[in-house]
Amino acid sequence: MDSKKVKEIMYSLGADLCGIADIGRFSDAPKGYHPLDVLPTCKSVVSFGCRFPVGTLICKSPIPYTRVRNSVTPKMDAIALDFCIEMEKSEIVCVPIPTNESQWDKNTGRYRSLISLKHAAQAAGLGTIGRHSLLITPEFGSMIWLGAVLCDVALEPDKLKENICDNCNLCVNACPINALESPEMDQQKCWNYAFGDDEEIQSWRIICHKCRDICPYNLGAKNSFIKGSMTAL
Ligand code: SF4
Ligand code: SF4
Repeated sequence: MDSKKVKEIMYSLGADLCGIADIGRFSDAPKGYHPLDVLPTCKSVVSFGCRFPVGTLICKSPIPYTRVRNSVTPKMDAIALDFCIEMEKSEIVCVPIPTNESQWDKNTGRYRSLISLKHAAQAAGLGTIGRHSLLITPEFGSMIWLGAVLCDVALEPDKLKENICDNCNLCVNACPINALESPEMDQQKCWNYAFGDDEEIQSWRIICHKCRDICPYNLGAKNSFIKGSMTAL
C-alpha cells in the first residue's frame, strides 16, 4: 500500500480532496487530542474533503445550507468507514474520525473533535487555516467539509501549502458578534449565535456564515472554482 493507492481508494469513494500527513506533524496537538491518543500505533493521517455547494452561501433561505451541512456529515462518515474496510483488506489497521462529533475539553474550555480535522488537513497539505479559523484550499476555498482516517502504516506525506489567507480581516469585521476578534475564535459565542432553533419557523437552523461569505476565496475574486459567476458579488 502506498500513498498513490490510498488516494485512489479515497477518490473512488467520493472524496474531492485527499492528502497525507505523517505522525511527526502533530507535535502541537492539544493534550488528549493527538492522533496517538486515539490510535497508539498511528503512523499516518489521511485527510479528505468533500465539496460544499457555494450557492448555499448566497441563497436567501438558511434551509439549503443547513440541509447540506446535515447531509454531508453522514456522507463523509460513510466514506471514512468504507475506506477503513478497504484498508483492512490489505491488513492495515485504520480508525475513522467522525466528521461532526465533538466533546468538551475541560483543559481548554472548548469542544473538540477526537483530533482537529482542520489541523489534520493543514498537516496533510490540503490548505492552510485562515483568520476565520476555517481551512482554505486553493481548489475550493473553505467550501469543503473535512474528514480524516488514522492509519498504522507509514505513507509518503504531501508537501505543506504556503499560507493562503492574506489577513485582509474582512471576516473579522463581518462577524456580527465579534467572535473573531482574538486569534482563536470564540467558539461558544459563535455557536450560540449561528446555530439554534428559529422561533419563527420552529426549526433548527444555521443562520450565520458571514465569515465564509465575505472571504474572497469563497465568494469573490480569489474563488478559483466558479470565478465567472461569483466575482461580481
Ligand atoms: S459563523 Fe457568524 S458568528 Fe460565527 S464566526 Fe462566522 S461570522 Fe461570526
Ligand atoms: S476574509 Fe481575509 S482574513 Fe479572513 S480568512 Fe479570508 S483571506 Fe483571511
